[in-house]
Amino acid sequence: MKRPLTITEVSYEALVAKAQSIAAAGACGHLHTTPPGCLITGSPRRAIVLEATDEEAVFGFFDGQPIEARAKPLAVLLHGADSVPDDDEELQPACAAVSHMAERMQAGKGHFHILNPVCLANPNPGRWTILFEDAELGALESVSDERPLADIRLVERLIYA
Ligand SMILES: [Zn+2]
Ligand SMILES: [Zn+2]
Repeated sequence: MKRPLTITEVSYEALVAKAQSIAAAGACGHLHTTPPGCLITGSPRRAIVLEATDEEAVFGFFDGQPIEARAKPLAVLLHGADSVPDDDEELQPACAAVSHMAERMQAGKGHFHILNPVCLANPNPGRWTILFEDAELGALESVSDERPLADIRLVERLIYA
């Protein structure tokens, strides 16, 4: 792992086209939304980061404006429609560590990332990492071998709320 990632900057339209071609090919790819100062980008701007895993390439659309609404359709494209939970969906409880991170986020203390086993930003390759970048406590991690579904649902709801 090397953070920040080496990112090829592209337009939003080019990022959408790249996500569509990955989805159409059934290739492996995933997204991160990143706020200013994020470990993944090391950038003062916001970004949507697209890892094209099969190409071993990382693309990013950078902007000063909030970016989540523009990331959401790409998340649906790459991660599936159920990757963005409905607001009224009942959630299983997250683990204690991730619940604590969620409280920190709701207090405005930082932001989340879900890092899958092939994610280039994952400090624990081959495993799942829920990363919370806390402005006061530093980088907090919850690591698991299996996909931590309840934790992911909670984090996705917070990211796309
Ligand atoms: Zn970050
Ligand atoms: Zn990643």
